[in-house]
Amino acid sequence: MVKENEKVEIMDISFINNNKYKFLHKQVNDHFISNEKCFIVTANPEIVMETRRNKTYKKIVQSADFVVPDGIGIILAAKHKKEPLIERIAGFDLMKDMLEFANESGAKCFFLGASEEVNKEAVSNIKRQYPGIKVTGRHHGFFDKTDSAVVQLVKDGEPDFIFVALGFPKQEEWIYENLPAFSKGIFMGVGGSLDVFAGKVKRAPDFWIKLNLEWFYRIIKQPFRWKRMLPIFKFMWLIYTKRD
Ligand code: UDP
Repeated sequence: MVKENEKVEIMDISFINNNKYKFLHKQVNDHFISNEKCFIVTANPEIVMETRRNKTYKKIVQSADFVVPDGIGIILAAKHKKEPLIERIAGFDLMKDMLEFANESGAKCFFLGASEEVNKEAVSNIKRQYPGIKVTGRHHGFFDKTDSAVVQLVKDGEPDFIFVALGFPKQEEWIYENLPAFSKGIFMGVGGSLDVFAGKVKRAPDFWIKLNLEWFYRIIKQPFRWKRMLPIFKFMWLIYTKRD
């Protein structure tokens, strides 16, 4: 049995073994209090499969302070290894809890990514829902990634939490490349979360999430994305045939 806080390795990626509450209120809180910067990746099977294809991305994910198990596929893979993880931590849920935490502690947040319309709408909804948060700024995600003006904009407000919604691998690449320029901040890639906060995309109802069928719900709702689901099946096949 893997102990709490010990890592579980799946395809060379080390996942934290903790529940969402303790991870946030212990590890993340420690970084928040000490102003020590940190890089969190919420990795699902698609991200793990991308690390097999793209060696630079693999190094980036391996450089993160914490890789959180997002997606039922990761949980099943750990179970299959006989090193079961305590809990699946969905990126969106972790972001919501971080916002709640920031709301209670008056923390400073920056929101980077998505289209200008989505970003604006999402940040305005977040401000309404979490009035205790100090929003130091926001910026859409369709900028030239070599443009240092965006990095400067993020730095200016000295945020405690930086939510980067550029989709993978872009969001982790951006964090990795720019982290050295920061002296503090908890950085996390949040994929399409701002689209959900803006009300543009609906998350699966709880019923589907509880049954671990969120991925299936997404195929039904966004069938044009079915191709993006293929790596999930390939991941499971590799796990169960022990070909990783
Ligand atoms: N996006 C962005 N800049 C880019 C490419 C994507 O800001 O150059 C945004 C896009 O608008 C969307 C998010 O990144 O809001 C990616 O969402 P998706 O659902 O594709 O990401 P996933 O959750 O699958 O990583």
